[in-house]
Amino acid sequence: MDNATETSVIIIGAGIAGLSAGCYLQMNGYRTRVFEMAARPGGVCTSWNRNGYTIDGCMHWLAGSGGASAMYRIWQELGVIQNHTFVNHEEYLRVEGQDGRYFALYTDPDRLEQHMMEIAPEDSAPIKEFTNALRKMKGFDMPVGKAPELEGPFDKLKAGLRFLPHLGVLNKSLKTTMNDFAARFKNPFLREAFLATTGDVKDFPMIGLLLPMSWVHAKAAGYPSGGSFEFAKTIEQRYLGLGGEVTYNSAVSKVLVENDRAVGLRLADGTEHRADIVVSAADGHSTIFDMLEGKYLNDTVEGYYKNLTLFPPMLLASFGVARSFEELPTSVGGFYLPLDEPLTIAGKEYHRLNLYVYNQDASLAPKGKTVVKFTLMTDYDYWESLYKDKERYRAEKEQIADMLLGVLEKRFPGISHLVEMRDVATPMTWVRYTANWRASYEGWMMSVDTFGMRMSKTLPGLENFYMVGQWVEPGGGLPPAAMSGRNLTQILCKRDGKRFVTSVP
Ligand SMILES: Cc1cc2nc3c(=O)[nH]c(=O)nc-3n(C[C@H](O)[C@H](O)[C@H](O)COP(=O)(O)OP(=O)(O)OC[C@H]3O[C@@H](n4cnc5c(N)ncnc54)[C@H](O)[C@@H]3O)c2cc1C
Repeated sequence: MDNATETSVIIIGAGIAGLSAGCYLQMNGYRTRVFEMAARPGGVCTSWNRNGYTIDGCMHWLAGSGGASAMYRIWQELGVIQNHTFVNHEEYLRVEGQDGRYFALYTDPDRLEQHMMEIAPEDSAPIKEFTNALRKMKGFDMPVGKAPELEGPFDKLKAGLRFLPHLGVLNKSLKTTMNDFAARFKNPFLREAFLATTGDVKDFPMIGLLLPMSWVHAKAAGYPSGGSFEFAKTIEQRYLGLGGEVTYNSAVSKVLVENDRAVGLRLADGTEHRADIVVSAADGHSTIFDMLEGKYLNDTVEGYYKNLTLFPPMLLASFGVARSFEELPTSVGGFYLPLDEPLTIAGKEYHRLNLYVYNQDASLAPKGKTVVKFTLMTDYDYWESLYKDKERYRAEKEQIADMLLGVLEKRFPGISHLVEMRDVATPMTWVRYTANWRASYEGWMMSVDTFGMRMSKTLPGLENFYMVGQWVEPGGGLPPAAMSGRNLTQILCKRDGKRFVTSVP
């Protein structure tokens, strides 16, 4: 194809959304180039190496990893399915009690119902309500295919009909928060265990748990072998294979605009690059308020950044231990461990801690060894302030690692002597490597208000500029990031009078 006649597109950010946009635009005859501030692809979808261990900083489940989900096709187009094997779990997570009891959130509704009835026969009403809701979710899939922005009345009718069998359960589980539902259990352990499943997130809608549970049960949401960075690398390779170009270590400082049209960008080193279209797949706040200096706003967009809740920032504390954990079940969410006494970590009090044992992927550790990882929701301002004093920041990380090692020792006596690696990542780690606003790892929090919410991929008054990724797809996640890039390509094809095409490598 004659390069001079192709529309050129610059993409900011080589996260999953940026790479996906690049892949689909290349498939459709656009000439694209990605500029990424980090040294490698993936954005928040990443892993890193320490002393021979790989710490996975992201994904536990990939919706669409199995043929029961329409998203499967998209992961095929991006080369993911062909290059990874997937581990399917039977448990969503497991909450342990002080007395050796545990609550396993099995994804099979029958098994779950039996297990819960054994724990709390007095709670048969909410138990059956929950497991029946899970049964009714069966077969519900994400709307994938045509970009929502291009849907006409007929497409909407088709989508409505598809939703119809699940409408009751979708409606109810969307309006019910996990806090409210948990409060219905008389049994204190089950009540607490149900609350723990949300990982402390207030007003989390039940649908946010039921949907992934039903996909995991259908073997359509597995964990990809090799982990998050290998996954991102696969999509980067697909992009390069399609003729795309990516430049790392290139932070974008400004989107160049002439007569209210985006015409290119300026990098932090001062160099400028021009293109017909600019797509930001980077953090939404810095795109709108820094790269575009807040010039293209309306009340709606401004309102998102003033009023919507963000996914809370995280603290990950990982340990490499010289032992295997074959006896433990694998799951999406890991274990919620009880504490004898509440622990105050980085200014916040915890009554339980989430521990993930990477026993499902031998590639993440030397033979016979394992990475275990604590994930804590933490306070952004605390870390931002502490980060100004690097010595105190480092000391706090060490102290937290010591404290968490104590928790680990209590659960697995003797383990401290087997620890060969420790690593603490804080919200400042995410800010440094991905620039995500207030270290929100998934953008806008999934809530009763934002579930299914549509945000525009354009900004008011600015032409030839688009946004993709988790900051325009409330709830975030890998499938919406990938779909965002695909949907944008459909929008551009329509605009340019082209037929949207895809290919499978
Ligand atoms: C711990 C964790 C667990 C998760 N678990 C799951 C899971 O199990 N399943 C799931 O589906 N999702 C999960 N997610 C969410 C999912 O990974 C994200 O929603 C998704 O990867 C976001 O992709 P993105 O491309 O929209 O954004 P990002 O990954 O943030 O990509 C944006 C890119 O833009 C770059 N950038 C930013 N500013 C600039 C600039 N000025 N110049 C150049 N480049 C710039 C960044 O460096 C980054 O590479 C998890 C996330 C985390 C952190």
